[in-house]
Amino acid sequence: MTRIIDYHIHTSFSDGFFSPRDMILAAVERGIQEVCITDHYSTWKPALSVMELEEYYATLDEIRMNESLPTKIFIGIEVDLSSIDFLDSLKDFQWDLILFEYVFTQSSWEKKFQQVLNFKKKNPKFNVGLAHTRFTRVPESKVDYVFSKISEFEIIVELNTGYGNYMDKWFNYLDDEYWYSIGSDSHHKNSLGNTILALNFLEKRKIPFNRIITL
Ligand SMILES: [Zn+2]
Repeated sequence: MTRIIDYHIHTSFSDGFFSPRDMILAAVERGIQEVCITDHYSTWKPALSVMELEEYYATLDEIRMNESLPTKIFIGIEVDLSSIDFLDSLKDFQWDLILFEYVFTQSSWEKKFQQVLNFKKKNPKFNVGLAHTRFTRVPESKVDYVFSKISEFEIIVELNTGYGNYMDKWFNYLDDEYWYSIGSDSHHKNSLGNTILALNFLEKRKIPFNRIITL
């Protein structure tokens, strides 16, 4: 029996439908043992601005400190690298998880991947992951390079259960050498804690559940 976790959740701080408190209480009700709230930062979607980071962090930290809930609460963020000007501001907070989205799905994937690696190099204390991982744009000639860097920099591969068809052909490269995170990408209470697709994937690939990160 593995932990019931959900490390990718949105709230009204970005494009989610409910307040952080409502989402967390819904997770408690569903018996989810650990949640990580990961609202959007600096993207074209409704997202946190640099100015809002402090309020976001403080709000979640307050819920975590003041309410004795059976669910562990972690504070994360999901970054779109399209606007990297504000990446430096992330250093000022104790994030439990920083997810980078759309790294390999755009033509500029090499540049974005390098930015992720640079960020991790400069900030080794952070857990850095790939949100709703897909390797869409990675050509065969670069696959070995990409996976060796993911391993070397301990970049977490998110198995996103909100995307039913997330597994492209390069997922065959994933094994017990890598670290994984599981997230539902929930914007609504209804989809919280749905982890079955990710667990099935790990089982099928014979990857032990202890390769799922603990925040
Ligand atoms: Zn998301």
